[in-house]
Amino acid sequence: MTAKTTAIATARLVEVFSAIQGEGFNVGTRQIFIRFALCDLRCHFCDSANTWNTPDTCRIERSPGSRDFEVHSNPITLFMLLEWIKRQNIPNLHDSISLTGGEPLLHASFLVEFLPLVRSATRLPIYLETGGHRTEQLAMVLPYLDSVGMDFKLESVSGEKRFPEHASFLKLCNDSQVEVFVKIIVSDQTDVAELQQAAQLVADTNPLIPIFLQPVTPLASPVHTDKYITAPSPDQVLVWQGIMKRIVKQVRVIPQTHKMLNQL
Ligand code: SF4
Repeated sequence: MTAKTTAIATARLVEVFSAIQGEGFNVGTRQIFIRFALCDLRCHFCDSANTWNTPDTCRIERSPGSRDFEVHSNPITLFMLLEWIKRQNIPNLHDSISLTGGEPLLHASFLVEFLPLVRSATRLPIYLETGGHRTEQLAMVLPYLDSVGMDFKLESVSGEKRFPEHASFLKLCNDSQVEVFVKIIVSDQTDVAELQQAAQLVADTNPLIPIFLQPVTPLASPVHTDKYITAPSPDQVLVWQGIMKRIVKQVRVIPQTHKMLNQL
């Protein structure tokens, strides 16, 4: 009789590195970032379009914050990633591990096996950054998460519209033990009616869930290369925050601070 072999879980990565979180609730904290390849959305303002397809190789920082990357072929195995994270996790440096991308939930089967091991090896909280549209995959990994930053896509800014998916995704987070916040990227083209609808959807779930308005860092769109995405004016942001605060309790405005620091 032949012995049954169990396949080792693999994933496709872009990079692993240690940095200061520049967005949302965890801004300013030190994290180990695991950036997964692949995304099924095509946001007009995407600053990680290099994740949309699987690169042949990924880059892995040897020591935290030193940018001394080594290169490995994709896909990588669960045990390789576990060793790289343990190597990054020097005592007292990091506050948490950030799962980012791309869309990390496209790797849900891998995460279900990887997250319990990395939690027990590092004792670090696990934070998920996500497009907020894959509820089924969220349900698979939710038991291993501590916090979730859910992007809320406005069609007027991103070209994507996922309101029903955002509603079920946010409800699942709210009904669980995780800490959740919503991030909305705004540009000078933001439709205020869409912003109000987004705030109302959050309020209908739980009006205490914080919303972070993130003025876009201006860039040439990777989707429409003839289009330049421009940040909103200070006056626009002041008005929008006021309107949304009539609907939900917390609306904070934070641009991408890691870009101000000229950080990765
Ligand atoms: S969800 Fe994130 S990675 Fe995917 S296209 Fe939008 S901004 Fe880019």
